[in-house]
Amino acid sequence: EKLLEVKHVKKYFDMGKKQFLKAVDDLNFDIYKGETFGLVGESGCGKSTAGRLIMGIYTPTGGQILYNGKDIHALDEHESFRMKRNVQMIFQDPYASLNPRATVREIIAEPLEVHGIYKNKREELERIYELLKEVGLNKEHASRYPHEFSGGQRQRIGIARALALDPEFIICDEPISALDVSVQAQVVNVLKKLQRDKNLTYLFIAHDLSMVKHISDRIGVMYLGHLVELTGSKNLYRKPLHPYTEALLSAIPIPDPKIEDKRERIILKGEIPSPINPPSGCVFRTRCPKAMDICASVKPQWLEVEELHYVACHLYDRKGKPMERVEGAAVP
Ligand code: SF4
Ligand code: MG
Repeated sequence: EKLLEVKHVKKYFDMGKKQFLKAVDDLNFDIYKGETFGLVGESGCGKSTAGRLIMGIYTPTGGQILYNGKDIHALDEHESFRMKRNVQMIFQDPYASLNPRATVREIIAEPLEVHGIYKNKREELERIYELLKEVGLNKEHASRYPHEFSGGQRQRIGIARALALDPEFIICDEPISALDVSVQAQVVNVLKKLQRDKNLTYLFIAHDLSMVKHISDRIGVMYLGHLVELTGSKNLYRKPLHPYTEALLSAIPIPDPKIEDKRERIILKGEIPSPINPPSGCVFRTRCPKAMDICASVKPQWLEVEELHYVACHLYDRKGKPMERVEGAAVP
């Protein structure tokens, strides 16, 4: 069952002088109830912009975002208020997103008070204690300030705050990127347990493929504002189709030292081009080790090349064979 539908969504920022920063260009994906959808790409690829579009913080330049079948930018006041309860966000840097002068109790109470959940302070406090317990903290932590906690604990506070309104969907914007590897796994385990207990749906944004694998059911890979590949996470690791995905995967070390890493590390040449002036045709072509002539002139279409495996690359058509030039697909 679809919870979220992202349809041809674009977000261009006006930079003046008739220049536009194309942060997100023609994004298409669905998120199903109860799943974790990983959105992966290097910094500046548009994944955080995608998260903010889905949160309703940004209005798309084009396209539509449907939540439970309804366009999130056409909701009436009541529906919009309800959506704000149901969709919450966890941020990369919990320290920056937690008010340093507020106690943990005040931080978690804030959304409860904005939404007028409890009439009674004692009930509210009980709920705050319960939330702290759910994320592996305790009552004693409630009267402390964010600077008294470690990075991993601060992220748990951020998670407790996101859970306060009992949401159904949480956008996790690189929630573990700033944490030590050992702490990353703990936070991922907290998120997984909460998902099982509360039937949550996650959009999990990450800048590399190492940790998302363990948490995501499906993964979409983004490059320069475009989704380039999307499939089940096991399948993506086993059988990546897009040259950019292959490069991202080759950068992840094999965790088991007993297994010899025979893979060839694919080093991408050059820098990520500016989203103000993206390359014609395929946006990845300036760095792609497999680029062909057609890649400069024709934008690859978003195709389901195998069952539930989508890719935008001229190396594949529906049968996984090289594709003929498609009329009308050229970028003006
Ligand atoms: Fe590389 Fe061409 Fe495929 Fe783009 S369309 S990823 S440039 S082969
Ligand atoms: Mg970001």
